[in-house]
Amino acid sequence: MQGAHNGSTARRRCTRCVLVERQPDVVLDERGLCQHGCRDPGVQVVSPLLESELIRRLERHRGRGRYDCMVMCSGGRDSVAALHLAVRRYRLTPLVFTFDNGFALPAGIENVARAVRELGVDWQLFRSEHMLPFFAEIVRSRASVPICPVCSLWSWGEAYRVAKEAGVRLIMTGYTRGQLQPGVPAGPDRRSEEDFPSLGQATREFMEKVRSVHERYRKFPRSMGELRRRHRRVEVLSPLWFQDLHKEEYTELIQRELGWQPVPGSWPPGSVNCSLNQLAAWLSIRHYGFSHHHIEEAARVRLGELSRQEALALLRLDLDDPETRGAVSASLTRLGCTWADLGVA
Ligand SMILES: [Zn+2]
Repeated sequence: MQGAHNGSTARRRCTRCVLVERQPDVVLDERGLCQHGCRDPGVQVVSPLLESELIRRLERHRGRGRYDCMVMCSGGRDSVAALHLAVRRYRLTPLVFTFDNGFALPAGIENVARAVRELGVDWQLFRSEHMLPFFAEIVRSRASVPICPVCSLWSWGEAYRVAKEAGVRLIMTGYTRGQLQPGVPAGPDRRSEEDFPSLGQATREFMEKVRSVHERYRKFPRSMGELRRRHRRVEVLSPLWFQDLHKEEYTELIQRELGWQPVPGSWPPGSVNCSLNQLAAWLSIRHYGFSHHHIEEAARVRLGELSRQEALALLRLDLDDPETRGAVSASLTRLGCTWADLGVA
């Protein structure tokens, strides 16, 4: 029924990945293949970067100050694994940073709390609801700006601020190889939001408006590129790019050593995203035919990490499903919005 709500049934989907045609962001050729790496035959094989290269880079930051680095940790499997690697494998002293936009799932925060306790490291939890009125405005105005990139700019702005205050020039994340990596320049195996011009344009225009209307946000970054340029001396990397670890392996490790637990109620299944995610993704699908999760899962399909069918099953977002409807309903209530604001009965 998702199609009936968002009109995406008429749109063609790339026959290799899961992206949906929408010019100029996703253009399908006569074979039905998109331009984001699907036109080359075969599975993209991306070998991990050498661990010796990671160690060389880490050594540049070790012992510079009170902390060697900052680790961004949401409590999800990948970011907790990155934290575990930073401390137990590379013997770094990190400051752990968690960002809560007001919709963080408590079970994710509890995972971080257990991990930092177990590892004996410092933790800064940034929690604020000051973007909620903007999110509400995006819903009510039916604007084409996708919520997640706006929130991502906000979270990265805070992360860079905290890193600067802590005297840190290395930020580590739990990004996997297929994942969208805000704050990190795109590479052959990495997609940036900037590869999707309409998404980037809508985000820039929205931020421009926010800056002009609110004195408090006058210096807010308009794009990830702008934010990166402001902080070009800060290195951002994920230890997971340099490992050939399998998800099952590190899941078992962090469960045993850090008491990590899966976070129920997060979408897509198996992730740890905030509870605004379903509403945000639904809005993005309505406007663009896809969300940033589709971009990420599409990359994983090309990398051969999962099949197209598996990705489509993960990405199912059906307002007739009681759990999805409940999550969207709770987000709307929290924002002071209604189903009527979505134009859905
Ligand atoms: Zn494709």
